Amino acid sequence: MNPIQMVDLTGQYAAFSEEMDNAILRVVRSGRYINGLEVQTFAEALSDYTGARYIVPCANGTDALQIALMASGLTPGDEVIVPAFTYAAAVEAVALLQLTPVIVDVEAETFNIDANKIREAISPKTKAIIPVHLFGQTADMETILNISSGNNLFVIEDNAQSIGSEFIFSNETKKQAGTIGNVGALSFFPTKNLGCYGDGGAMMTDDEALAKKLKMITQHGQAVKYHHQLIGCNSRLDTLQAAVLTVKLQYLDRFTDSRRNVAGFYLEQLAELSEHIILPSVQSYSTPVYNQFTIRVNHGKRDDLQAFLKDKKIPAIVYYPLPIHQQAAFRNISRIGGDLSISENLCNSVLSLPVHTELDHEQLNYIVEQIKSFFN
Ligand SMILES: *Cc1c(COP(=O)(O)O)cnc(C)c1O
Repeated sequence: MNPIQMVDLTGQYAAFSEEMDNAILRVVRSGRYINGLEVQTFAEALSDYTGARYIVPCANGTDALQIALMASGLTPGDEVIVPAFTYAAAVEAVALLQLTPVIVDVEAETFNIDANKIREAISPKTKAIIPVHLFGQTADMETILNISSGNNLFVIEDNAQSIGSEFIFSNETKKQAGTIGNVGALSFFPTKNLGCYGDGGAMMTDDEALAKKLKMITQHGQAVKYHHQLIGCNSRLDTLQAAVLTVKLQYLDRFTDSRRNVAGFYLEQLAELSEHIILPSVQSYSTPVYNQFTIRVNHGKRDDLQAFLKDKKIPAIVYYPLPIHQQAAFRNISRIGGDLSISENLCNSVLSLPVHTELDHEQLNYIVEQIKSFFN
């Protein structure tokens, strides 16, 4: 059996190595390493894929969140609602711009912000909300949109983990995660569902004026060279990474199918352990893409299970061990938006199992057999 990894990027590369090598060499030989043709080609392909009218590439997912906030017109002291259980990038961007994070609890079943708890957390200073579509499943965007339009909130979707996942509205229309709010932020970090061979990111929007502003901010606030109209930054997607992404985007649906097959296998095989573990739930409003397959381990056994699996050469990781409101960096600059005990409990019970595009049946069987043997 091949060794089991959380992700297998070299194994994935082998499946299209010739095509990828050619794409990379074309860029190397062109000499256009910054803003080469491939950047525009990729942006157009991604617009077709996601349905977002405008794609603004940038250097990474954290920049995408920060630039979206810079374009939102918020000023220091304004409040931004964020989930307590998440990767910290969105909160960090909020804090960097001297905005105040308002931390709201998540739902245990979906790991996503509890839309019904957002309303109670809103104050007159609240100007924006950043739902994070965690682990591959969209947050409840219909409820979030209802709240944001009623309260005039700017909505930035952190879609670093859920590219290709769809949200299904109650009238049955569908939209891809990241194309529902004012701006969607994407990360192409290697381990994301669409990952490049380094850092990369993009913003998605349907709003033409906003797209122009986002673009300007990525290039030092310029629309015309050496004329700085806004305070911006330097945040570009490398031509090389755009070439890598253009190749990989063609395979994204196949990657997603592989991830869903792995998840389907776990869901079926681990169902009998319902007394011990809680499997990730699929909401009727979403089509998850499983950036992670995250279980909850009952009775305080999470750390023991993780150590047991490690001993059996099965990696399993705790995403995330500490909620946002307990992080030293954010504790003193945030406002607590209600009870956060679900997030605290999740940090003590979640465990993410290997899920990637190259897992084979032998490996998957071994993983579930070992999990079963731990509990039996
Ligand atoms: C990866 C990730 C980010 C940051 O993306 P980078 O490209 O690493 O800057 C932001 N939010 C979430 C939820 C992520 O998973």
